[in-house]
Amino acid sequence: MTGRNGNGGQRRARGPGGAGDFVGARGAGSRGCGGLMGAGGACLCLRCGHRRPHRKGVPCLQERCPECGAVLVREGSIHHQEVTSRRQTAADAKNEG
Ligand SMILES: [Zn+2]
Repeated sequence: MTGRNGNGGQRRARGPGGAGDFVGARGAGSRGCGGLMGAGGACLCLRCGHRRPHRKGVPCLQERCPECGAVLVREGSIHHQEVTSRRQTAADAKNEG
């Protein structure tokens, strides 16, 4: 390499410590994912329980279950939680009687 362009690079005293957006939101101890697993996560069929890896760039809600044709939801998403909790409540209510 020719040309030395050293103009004192280490002069960044202040910095709000950027890149804090990604850290902590999700991903417990998966460091250095070289993009092999993509965005991660999975899409779930709430009807039959089919599960498939989430495709990057394609919202689960736009995917259809290959088994039963129902719309998929993102695993762990608010949608998923909502339906799950609703189901539990329904099951609970059904129990009596
Ligand atoms: Zn299904």
